[in-house]
Amino acid sequence: MEHKVNSEKSSSELISKLEHPKNPIAIKYLNELTLKQRQDFFDSFDLILCDCDDVIWQTHHGLLPGSPEAIDYLKRQGKEVIYVTNNSLSPIDMLLKKFERFGIEVKKHEIVFPAQTICDYLKSIQFDGLIFCLTSEAFKSLLREAGFNLVDELVGYAENFQDFHPLINSDDPVKAVIIDTDLNLTVSKLIRAHGYLRKNPECLFIGGAGDTLNTVGGKDIIGPGTFMSILENTTQRKALVLGKPGVGLRDFIMDKHKIKNARRCLFIGDSIVSDIRFAKVCGFQSLLVLTGTTTPEDLKSKLTETDTPDYVSECLGDLNGFLS
Ligand SMILES: [Mg+2]
Repeated sequence: MEHKVNSEKSSSELISKLEHPKNPIAIKYLNELTLKQRQDFFDSFDLILCDCDDVIWQTHHGLLPGSPEAIDYLKRQGKEVIYVTNNSLSPIDMLLKKFERFGIEVKKHEIVFPAQTICDYLKSIQFDGLIFCLTSEAFKSLLREAGFNLVDELVGYAENFQDFHPLINSDDPVKAVIIDTDLNLTVSKLIRAHGYLRKNPECLFIGGAGDTLNTVGGKDIIGPGTFMSILENTTQRKALVLGKPGVGLRDFIMDKHKIKNARRCLFIGDSIVSDIRFAKVCGFQSLLVLTGTTTPEDLKSKLTETDTPDYVSECLGDLNGFLS
């Protein structure tokens, strides 16, 4: 199967023509590096942090050809690889099976995703209170299995404020509100979350995936970061964001993976906002691949100084046999 290329024009052709007023540093196109530059690039990092969706595989089209071979090649060259995804929709066991099915060897602790990161954070602060979750069922199950208490699911339908009232008001002593991807998010859930955060200034406000837009089946849909912003704006509070591109996730990863020198890390992702911005927040080098949400045209129109990747490549598979 052909991997997705976002334009009929060669991306290298478009990238080489990139002239953005806020982008004085030229992006390096990986396939145009000389052998010496390739070697220097390869020698410049030890740890790779790799996004999954639209980098290793695509939700609707399965595995991106060449990805497992590229990862295997990187490991054989002595690079350590960990995976940083914003996707907490599936239980970790399903995700591990997906890696296995695609022939990629991975251990649980090598996958960083918001549900686990937030669970680890709550444990680290010995959190002991009721949690209200705007998340997937898999996310909630992970927290419950770790021993945390969650507010029961809300079920109801309202056509007037009288019926709406019990859906949005609660006396539950909630001490943490968590927002991540929730495909069943409703207005009443958002309003209830707002109420908990406004009523109790001590109530923790934690965010997972910070994507303002997600790409599903080639189309942009509103992402969880947009709903997180609604809560931030209406409560005048800032969420502790433990998914990409959150600063909270940076601190978590630096600590957990004992990263001393961020420039010796390479972040590989397909999203300018989630991946490249996160790499910049962390001080990592960054490689943007064009198998997902970013098109070659976006490189000309959407980059800002803080979002510009160090390198661009059409796909992760380009790294297979990179030095040969
Ligand atoms: Mg992605």
